[in-house]
Amino acid sequence: MSVINLLSPHVADLIAAGEVVERPASVVKELIENAFDAGAHTVTVEIRGGGATYIRVTDDGCGMAPEDAGVAFLRHATSKLSDERGLEAISTMGFRGEALAAISAVSHVELRTRLRGADEGTFVSLDAGEIQEMGPIGCPEGTTMIVRDLFYNTPARLKFLKSDRSEASACVQAALRCALGRPEISLRLIRDGKEEFFSAGDGRQDSCVYTLLGRELASTLLACSGEDEGLKVSGFVSSPSAGRGNRGSQYFFCNGRTIKSALLQAALEQAYKNSLLSGRFPACVLYLDMSFASVDVNVHPAKTEVKFSQERRIFDLVYHAVLSALQREDRTAEVQLSAGTRKLAEPKADFFRSMSAESYRRQQAAPQSTRAEAPVFPEPRGTQISFGGMRLAEPQTGCQTSLDLNPRKPSFSEPIRRDPTPEKPEGKSALVDKPVQNVDTPPIPDHKILGEAMKTYILVEVGDTLLLIDKHAAHERMNFDRLKAQERAVMSQTLLAPAPLTLGGEDTELLERFGELLGELGFEIEPLGGGNFVIRAVPADILPSDAVPAIEEILEKLRKGKTPDPQSARDEILHTVACKAAIKAGWDTSAAERERIVVEVLSGHVKYCPHGRPVSAVLTRRDLDKMFKRIV
Ligand code: ADP
Ligand code: MG
Repeated sequence: MSVINLLSPHVADLIAAGEVVERPASVVKELIENAFDAGAHTVTVEIRGGGATYIRVTDDGCGMAPEDAGVAFLRHATSKLSDERGLEAISTMGFRGEALAAISAVSHVELRTRLRGADEGTFVSLDAGEIQEMGPIGCPEGTTMIVRDLFYNTPARLKFLKSDRSEASACVQAALRCALGRPEISLRLIRDGKEEFFSAGDGRQDSCVYTLLGRELASTLLACSGEDEGLKVSGFVSSPSAGRGNRGSQYFFCNGRTIKSALLQAALEQAYKNSLLSGRFPACVLYLDMSFASVDVNVHPAKTEVKFSQERRIFDLVYHAVLSALQREDRTAEVQLSAGTRKLAEPKADFFRSMSAESYRRQQAAPQSTRAEAPVFPEPRGTQISFGGMRLAEPQTGCQTSLDLNPRKPSFSEPIRRDPTPEKPEGKSALVDKPVQNVDTPPIPDHKILGEAMKTYILVEVGDTLLLIDKHAAHERMNFDRLKAQERAVMSQTLLAPAPLTLGGEDTELLERFGELLGELGFEIEPLGGGNFVIRAVPADILPSDAVPAIEEILEKLRKGKTPDPQSARDEILHTVACKAAIKAGWDTSAAERERIVVEVLSGHVKYCPHGRPVSAVLTRRDLDKMFKRIV
């Protein structure tokens, strides 16, 4: 590392001013980042008493020369930046030259450091920022920084600290995020004498994620990657069936730095739209790599907020990479899309503004033209998409010793072709679905429909696997995709006996607000005044007797969605129509109807219901053999 400079007041002013040391976790983060910047391969962090009593960070990085060791604690002393041009492309974790000054001002600090190749090291001790002792010392190459009694001289700030337990877990989280961001560096964290975690530093994202986040989370992750002229995203996203209760397991990194980003969060969550239960959130570990000049990290002292110069491109890249990871899940056969389908699948120009993460919408206040539809199966540009040939992964049972992000390939026999003219079903639940898109017919594995259990689950034998399909969930998804693909023109049926409806004030307002949209989607509702309405027509797919329940359900969803944007409102309405039009558990289902559902599920088109529930479950011969103790 080069010699430490004192930044000129002008450059110092250009650096966003602010507090660096908020709590022990901020010290842990700053010291680890310094170790990373020093080119360390191995870093050890030790904390005691929640970090407020003791924090030690030892690295095998470049170390400091004696003349730099004292200067390092001065404000705006940094070896990572010398003039304002440097601010335009920051390649190091630090650049502000503030952390050591801020930390040493509110604690007792000891520094032992030895420059690589130097004969001896340097010792510096400071109290409240004042150097107490400084001199040569024997120590290993690299740097050890010890911070004791944080905030001992600022009792007001000490009072704001939470319990040792929560401060310690914030320290662990901060260190974990640093470690996760740099799989090539080995990081060990010791908390009150016990090892909390250890990352191998072998440069592999998968083993890093597995060791740091644990098997339970890692086993739900799908590999995800994408590239677009100098922008790269790689990492993992969770399977839609493994949605989580909050966003705590979303990790984003940009050039190795942990960042918070409403943009990335919105891109991620938009890709899960209609495949995740509402109120559930995806998990992810996503690494973005781009030129240092295209991201500004000088936004906030904690350096976790960044400003991208090409937000739109980054949004697209992440959105498509995640979507394609989700589409690849459980699929084996590679079928190329025809040119026509590719066109259909091409995302609309400005879906960017239809993203869901409200925080991003609020921040960005989209100024331009009106928002368009979210794309139906948008395809990552310039790549192939695989359709069909559902993959039946063996359920994760027993102990897994390594991260298996790529489940075992199934052993299906020669696939058969889908019958192009399925028998016309009879009865009130007649399936009217057509394939959602003009996708080249995917190969369907050889299968035998064994029957139906409890008038709910269709049983299918596929090779050595028993597949159970929730007929309602699968049919609901088929309906939803078909309705969504129909764009505006949803077929309507006039009710012989118009259905009266009386609503309260809030619902009346909602109905008026979304009346036009409901009209486009096949509902004809006439206001009679005083909260009274009459439903004259409903979408052709639903039964006349469902007219009032459907509207009530839609209004309830719209009410819960607070102020839904037109796209979300449209999806909610289509969810309800799809659900009402779907065959129900408990209904009799004809053989032809079952076959239609099975074919759609086996083709890989239908995996989750519109709310994110899985439509099928798998029992392998191995599972059954184990169950009956044929094997152990
Ligand atoms: P910044 O990281 O923004 O430069 P800091 O106050 O964190 O500011 O550190 C000041 C300087 O001290 C760094 O620029 C670097 O030269 C030196 N330094 C701090 N920690 C280490 C370390 N672990 N190894 C080598 N040099 C270090
Ligand atoms: Mg620093």
